[in-house]
Amino acid sequence: MLNKLKLLTPGPTPLPEDVRLALAKDMIHHRKADFVRIMERIQPDLQYLFGTQEQVLPLSCSGTGAMYAAVSNLFTRGEKVLVVEGGKFGERWREIALSQGLEVVSLVLEAGQAISAAQVQEALTDHPDTRAVLVQASETSTGVLHPIQDLGVVTKNLDVLLMVDGISAVGISPCPMDAWHIDCLLTGSQKGLMLPPGLALLSLSSRAWDKVKTVQPENFYFNLLSERDKSLNNQTLFTSPVNLIQGLTVSLELFRQTTLEAIYSKQWALTQMARAGVASLGLELLAPTSFTWGLTAIKMPPAVDGSLVLKVAAENYNVIMAGGQGELKKSIVRLGHMGHVDWTDVLAGLYALRQGIVAAGGYLASRTFLENALHAYEQALRSGYPRCTEKEGV
Ligand SMILES: *Cc1c(COP(=O)(O)O)cnc(C)c1O
Repeated sequence: MLNKLKLLTPGPTPLPEDVRLALAKDMIHHRKADFVRIMERIQPDLQYLFGTQEQVLPLSCSGTGAMYAAVSNLFTRGEKVLVVEGGKFGERWREIALSQGLEVVSLVLEAGQAISAAQVQEALTDHPDTRAVLVQASETSTGVLHPIQDLGVVTKNLDVLLMVDGISAVGISPCPMDAWHIDCLLTGSQKGLMLPPGLALLSLSSRAWDKVKTVQPENFYFNLLSERDKSLNNQTLFTSPVNLIQGLTVSLELFRQTTLEAIYSKQWALTQMARAGVASLGLELLAPTSFTWGLTAIKMPPAVDGSLVLKVAAENYNVIMAGGQGELKKSIVRLGHMGHVDWTDVLAGLYALRQGIVAAGGYLASRTFLENALHAYEQALRSGYPRCTEKEGV
């Protein structure tokens, strides 16, 4: 059947044509000069993307693999970490930490709420033996953006590492690793990077590397010290995901040519567009104040089953969105707008959302929601995204 699918999920995301063509290239050998040159060429682009001077390591795994690699290399059994649990992915940090025998102190947030630096400061005062804060930059399950820059101000002068799952933030909203004093930043390929799933990227600060050396991880796979040695020679420890790296080369070129500034600007405007459209339909947003720039989480009206909305949107409009996770499964719809997505996609998403809700028995009054959304988009493009300025002390 001839269907033009609109993939508006918070990962995987659509692939630009140039990336798809690069992925289709024939195999080359991962230990030979051609591949080594590719790896050498992408390192400065990766550092630009991450906002770091440190080496950025490609890992052959989905994003969760990088989370596991970070935890298993940086800590030893019995060490205490603070986990910000704002949703499913915060819970994942806790589960990984527990699986490694760490002691976990959780800051559990209500769905839709962001953590504050004061809450983290207080928890660190109550637990002075805490060695790290584990947090998402963007909690994809609820669409919440956590204030990473503020947390960095708290952790940078303490013996506490700031570990940031940036899987739905890197390349989507600002998350400069060095400027924000992030000790571990990681992401996956299938969100902002416009690549298929299966590749993760991870970088550590120099004090995090010092910590890894004291731990001397016993991991055979995901051994970050060995991965770093190889990476400094423009290789990976085991066979590289060659095609994904070739796709990455093109995706990074697109980032460099477009500039991060322009991409953040687009992402901000799409977010404002989605939020304005949703608000003028009279629907509620799950994250009221501190929200992600790559997806919008929308609360369904009380009697409306979100899974039916998704079904109608997919079957009648070829628009693929995501439901909630866990307890939020049927009560929210997540409209993804990260990566290779533009205003026409968000228009389609908003329209399919409205039609889906009406079909599922909801009443929505506005006839002008698409115009309102577009107006917000244009206004946001003109005024630009909120800048982050240097912050000192809290
Ligand atoms: C998508 C996502 C993950 C999970 O990544 P996988 O690639 O499925 O392992 C983890 N954290 C966040 C914030 C995500 O958005």
